Amino acid sequence: MAQQQALLEVKNLKTYFPIRRGIFRKVVGHVKAVNGVSFVLHKGETLGLVGESGCGKTTTARSILRLIEPTSGEVFYHRGGEAIDVLGLEGQNMKDVRKDMQIIFQDPMSSLNPRMLVSDIIGEPLYIYGMKNRRDREARVAELLEAVGLRANYMRRYPHEFSGGQRQRIGIARALALRPQLVICDEPVSALDVSVQAQVLNLLEDLQKEFGLTYLFVAHNLSVVEHVCHRVAVMYLGKVVELAETDELFNRFLHPYTEALLSSIPVPDPDYIGKDIVLEGDVPSPANPPSGCYFHPRCRHASDMCRQKEPEFRECAPGHFCACHFSERFMQEGLDHPALQEELQD
Ligand code: SF4
Repeated sequence: MAQQQALLEVKNLKTYFPIRRGIFRKVVGHVKAVNGVSFVLHKGETLGLVGESGCGKTTTARSILRLIEPTSGEVFYHRGGEAIDVLGLEGQNMKDVRKDMQIIFQDPMSSLNPRMLVSDIIGEPLYIYGMKNRRDREARVAELLEAVGLRANYMRRYPHEFSGGQRQRIGIARALALRPQLVICDEPVSALDVSVQAQVLNLLEDLQKEFGLTYLFVAHNLSVVEHVCHRVAVMYLGKVVELAETDELFNRFLHPYTEALLSSIPVPDPDYIGKDIVLEGDVPSPANPPSGCYFHPRCRHASDMCRQKEPEFRECAPGHFCACHFSERFMQEGLDHPALQEELQD
């Protein structure tokens, strides 16, 4: 069971990208990729961040690390009883905190420099953070390669000499080089063959136990999320719409978008007749989101109130947060209760 001590607090995080037009590149609008995301990440847990492509999950992850500079909001990293304001840090102070927060990228091929030896790829962060002696660095690289299930002598090879799964292990070794507390896993298995995915996921779980790591796990494969995450946050159009412990979310979801996402998970049983909820229409543009609840144009429960008023993201049951006007009703009566359905359509 995950511990409940906060490691990272994200408050109302927003990352907007300007839309420029004309010869003077005038700003005519903004793509609101991340639009007010808040959550707490507990020490030692794995928090899944899921949603369709373009919902802002990767931008959220990168904004936390300031690989993309957020527009506004707060990110607090807790270390030694102190809450460090990550977005307010500069220079050496930021470098010091970044050591504790690392990332594993989605594509293991493009995230490794093809002209560098593995020893230099994994050794680079060590060099930057003060380990100038090559022999010391290589000893640590050998240790890291063994920790991720690769042979130490692979450090003399180039990335193209490895399979996809092995390359991702190198990416993991690089992320672990500085002994981080938090690792952001940005779709770490989606570029891998299915047969290799399980190996990498098991490796991540083993490393978490061994080094006490905390993961923010960005993914769109819900079966993977169910397997590895303690809690799950569902994102839609730049906002978190539901957050709960994994079992609770998969069995007692409250948001109609979560319901639709979960109904799309394939079940390996030819006789299974599931409720397949097909979302109508396209995902609205994050440059021009709909009024009220952002999900209302595609929601089968939408009412007038949904079109006018934005639902608050609130705790509907202990540890279960949802942004839907009717989440308490859904909790009591279920999403398919006929009386509620009638009432919502009136
Ligand atoms: Fe659907 Fe309304 Fe809930 Fe939004 S607030 S998810 S439109 S029922």
